[in-house]
Amino acid sequence: MISVEEALKRILDSFSPLGLEKVSILDALGRVIGEDIYAGRALPPKDHSVMDGYALRSVDTRGTSPENPVIFDIVEDIPAGAIPKMRIQVGQAARIMTGAPLPKGADAVVRMEDARKEGNRVVLFVEARKGQNIRYAGEDVQAGEKVLSRGEIIRPAEVGMLASLGRSFILIHQRPLVAIVATGDELAGIDEPPSPWKIIGSNSYSLAALVRECGGIPIQTGIAKDRREDLLAKFRAVMRADIILSSGGVSVGDYDLVKEIMKGPGNRMQFWQVAMKPGRPLAFGALGDVPIVGLPGNPVSSMVCFEQLIRPAILKMLGHENLFRRTVRARLGEDITKKKGMRYFIRARIRRDGEDYVVVTTDRQGSDILKSMVRVNGLIILPEEATTVRKGSMVKVQLLDDALERMPSLGY
Ligand code: AMP
Ligand code: MG
Repeated sequence: MISVEEALKRILDSFSPLGLEKVSILDALGRVIGEDIYAGRALPPKDHSVMDGYALRSVDTRGTSPENPVIFDIVEDIPAGAIPKMRIQVGQAARIMTGAPLPKGADAVVRMEDARKEGNRVVLFVEARKGQNIRYAGEDVQAGEKVLSRGEIIRPAEVGMLASLGRSFILIHQRPLVAIVATGDELAGIDEPPSPWKIIGSNSYSLAALVRECGGIPIQTGIAKDRREDLLAKFRAVMRADIILSSGGVSVGDYDLVKEIMKGPGNRMQFWQVAMKPGRPLAFGALGDVPIVGLPGNPVSSMVCFEQLIRPAILKMLGHENLFRRTVRARLGEDITKKKGMRYFIRARIRRDGEDYVVVTTDRQGSDILKSMVRVNGLIILPEEATTVRKGSMVKVQLLDDALERMPSLGY
């Protein structure tokens, strides 16, 4: 039996970020960019006005006040998108709209509100400062500047930045293909007529959902009987996957064949049994060149093991640098006793309590109780050395999904 730490290390060591693919920037949302992006042009490309108003020479406005207004000749109209034709001379102004390029000669823009138009002249009541209401070329981004680095996650702002640079496609890390093979003679397919002797194999669905949630591409093979030939046939069908997840058949039962297959010729078994609860019988190895994680069949174990050991590997393949869920410290709402030597992952509900967090366990913790995963928003992680953990002590809680966002907000 190895520690969770060691299991995680050995699993992560077996994976690297996948190769790159070219996708549209919108399809890159949430993905990890695999190239550095340099600006091909300055943003904005030209000096322009950030107000609707009048472009003029600031020196011509010296001494202007409501009592001492100045009059300018309007020599040009510059709507957004137009190319200015005139050079602004002494006593001249151009009517200019937000986003329009600044005409030559002008060095300030006076807001519409601070002027009064009278025919083809404009009366000013305030002094203008050089540079006022002007955005200079390159003020946002300089030509040649690095705006995104490989390894960064594409969010809506990054999509906007790429769009403003005219980049419609970028290179991102490919999504891993994650094959899911469920095994168990007691398992029925989801749409099979229900027999009282069978249960529906739900793990392939919860696992596929977990895979999809973190960005992988799940491939469900359907259910294998607890027979060597059947399992091998299912495995053979997914040898192009980046990782195979099997569910069930890794314990010490008479029909638990996954480990045996992993020990077979051409395959490899790296370890079996991890000091964690739930999830102890987990096995890791390779079928040919394809890494395989043998997950225990209990619905809760398979999900918790996925969270701890597989999700980080999928994120690594996707190119992510931060591979782990967020953890917070929370005050425990009850006493918990545990066995020494095992790391416990306890289903829990965490909520805010003022500036702190309070966490309580779900009432039934059996690893076969799928209901205990439903509505859970965190896992209390109790370290190997702990035995009794008292109510009121601070414990580490791993937040699942968008648990934090679903909590009542602290406000601003
Ligand atoms: P095993 O790991 O094969 O010993 O299975 C442990 C328990 O999990 C047994 O009670 C199985 O019936 C159950 N189980 C195994 N595979 C699945 C599955 N795909 N969906 C739901 N329950 C399962
Ligand atoms: Mg079984």
